[in-house]
Amino acid sequence: MLWTMDWASWRLAVTLMLGQLARWLYRGQRQNGLVRVVNRGVAAVFSWGVAPNYLVALQVTGHRSGRTISLPLAIVIVDGERYLVSNLGADVAWVRNVKAAGGRAVLRHGRTERVQLDELPVERRAPVLKAYLRRAPGARPHVPVDKDAPLEDFAAIAARFPVFSVRLEHPATRSAGGERRGERAQMRIAIVGGGPSGSALAILLSVLGADVTLFDDGRRPALLVGESLIPSVVPILKKLGVEEDTAGFSQRKPGATFVWSASDQVRVTFDRFAPAVFPYAYNIPRPRFDEALLTRAIKAGALHVPIKAKLERADADGARGELALALETLAAVPALEGRQPDLIVDATGRARYAARVLEISARIGPRKDVAHFAHFQGVRWDETPGQVLVTRGRAGWNWCIPLRDRLSIGIVLSRDDAAELGREPEERLHRAIATEPWLSAIAGQARRVTPVATYANYQLISERGYGRGWVMAGDAFGFVDPMLSPGVFLALRSAELVADGLAPWLARREIPSPHELDRALARYARLQGTMLEAWLELVAQFYDGRVAALMRSGRTWDTLGSGFLRSAIDGHVARHVGLLASGAATTARYPRALLRFLGRYALRGVHPGELAIR
Ligand SMILES: Cc1cc2nc3c(=O)[nH]c(=O)nc-3n(C[C@H](O)[C@H](O)[C@H](O)COP(=O)(O)OP(=O)(O)OC[C@H]3O[C@@H](n4cnc5c(N)ncnc54)[C@H](O)[C@@H]3O)c2cc1C
Repeated sequence: MLWTMDWASWRLAVTLMLGQLARWLYRGQRQNGLVRVVNRGVAAVFSWGVAPNYLVALQVTGHRSGRTISLPLAIVIVDGERYLVSNLGADVAWVRNVKAAGGRAVLRHGRTERVQLDELPVERRAPVLKAYLRRAPGARPHVPVDKDAPLEDFAAIAARFPVFSVRLEHPATRSAGGERRGERAQMRIAIVGGGPSGSALAILLSVLGADVTLFDDGRRPALLVGESLIPSVVPILKKLGVEEDTAGFSQRKPGATFVWSASDQVRVTFDRFAPAVFPYAYNIPRPRFDEALLTRAIKAGALHVPIKAKLERADADGARGELALALETLAAVPALEGRQPDLIVDATGRARYAARVLEISARIGPRKDVAHFAHFQGVRWDETPGQVLVTRGRAGWNWCIPLRDRLSIGIVLSRDDAAELGREPEERLHRAIATEPWLSAIAGQARRVTPVATYANYQLISERGYGRGWVMAGDAFGFVDPMLSPGVFLALRSAELVADGLAPWLARREIPSPHELDRALARYARLQGTMLEAWLELVAQFYDGRVAALMRSGRTWDTLGSGFLRSAIDGHVARHVGLLASGAATTARYPRALLRFLGRYALRGVHPGELAIR
């Protein structure tokens, strides 16, 4: 008979047997001796913090023995608050001991927290009990309600199962305001990721008066991409108070030159389009730039927590947020007092941590390339200092970004084309420099002064950029191909937009209601999404050869004569391409429509395919 049982029947039988065993072990709602021994061992394991982060060891003083008693328990988080539940009812030793100790106890889970446990009134227990049963399968045999039952069923049995709220015994001094919504209070915001988007947001929110915790895993390799900035970054740097610092270690960038072939080149300097476009930008040593932003964030009042933060999906019944800081991450920041923040910002870059936890998919663009790059000295540089050079290669494209005392050289190409250049990144980069005419003229005799770094290059926009109590910023929200260097701008601009959205509540020192927060984040996500789409469209026109074809065909607009009309049209088109590619008006309707129109109707026999980037 056993051999003929299907999987579902097996599972049911095993569940019933385990339920029977659990009820036997806890006959009369009391532990037998065997359970006590096992519990002591399990509590020791939980206290080391090696178990999943919701499993803890509770230590409380025995009210008769005076000894410290440890037992393993599961913590449940509802609406951002932590709770402990007695699944064996009110008449068990730990509940009696906690009450006798006036609620004072210790939680251990890798870290030690002195906590105050307060019994919850019966009418508030139902959502906690439900969340608890979903979290702790081991408790289900003891509670006569199915984990998926409606809340009313839990309310009916709530009086039998004590629930304790958990708060730190010694609240830290930060964030002392009233914490319920509608009261005047300091909004508590946790930002995960100390790259440009995270640090910039930490600066802006701290200045506005938010209580900001910035988690930063400190991963800053000596070589980081994102070295060339576009002009629209500069006003944001000024606002963040880091432009002077940035100017001190960066190379001023007057413009960019694009080379599709020996005869198809365009050299742009930003000052040509001033004042619509900021007249210059910077080429930055990225790790140093990130440090400058982080230092400024700390100065502005953000609490810097140098750890890799852990996020998890919040309990389904939690009214506050969809995403939560894991217990061990909360515990690592005593200033958070064990409570979830009002808002969690995912600024983890291409790690896209929130998207992974919440299983949010993304729309992926057509490019799937690999990039190899390194820094060189002893190059031959005939261009203006700081002018960035982008050249079309035999396959893919290449960058030359002049930094203060060195040149960053990168190649971006498909994985197959990269493999043809060699097996190792070093071999590929050196081969490209030797065989691409532009690169070999510049760096044929140069000395590589860093290892070669490798990045995957792709295009991606998250299907969802925010949710209840959380939001994505920077690359975590969307990532655009770097040919036009918009990445750091998009990261900083997203920070600006999030901060602008929250500014009205921060100014009044109020915490937005979940609905208000939702609306503010939705607006931000719309704007950021539109910006990402616009950049993707623009970069596609560079890849498929339309922009280059337009430039070539512009040289043959003889019918317009050589005088005023022709130069006016030339200037008009160049100006609007400049507005798009500098970030000054990338989402504006007219320049986008103009470029689309010209790319379709003004190519005069030039085939974009000839100038496309493979
Ligand atoms: C090949 C290539 C070339 C590029 N070139 C340019 C360019 O020239 N110009 C430009 O503007 N952009 C460029 N970019 C893009 C640019 O690098 C990014 O857009 C920019 O770094 C995004 O900033 P961010 O803050 O969103 O993310 P990131 O810079 O990735 O920062 C995220 C930070 O979060 C940290 N982190 C991650 N997980 C956690 C965690 N759990 N806890 C704590 N911290 C965590 C990471 O260590 C990192 O420090 C390029 C990208 C590529 C791939």
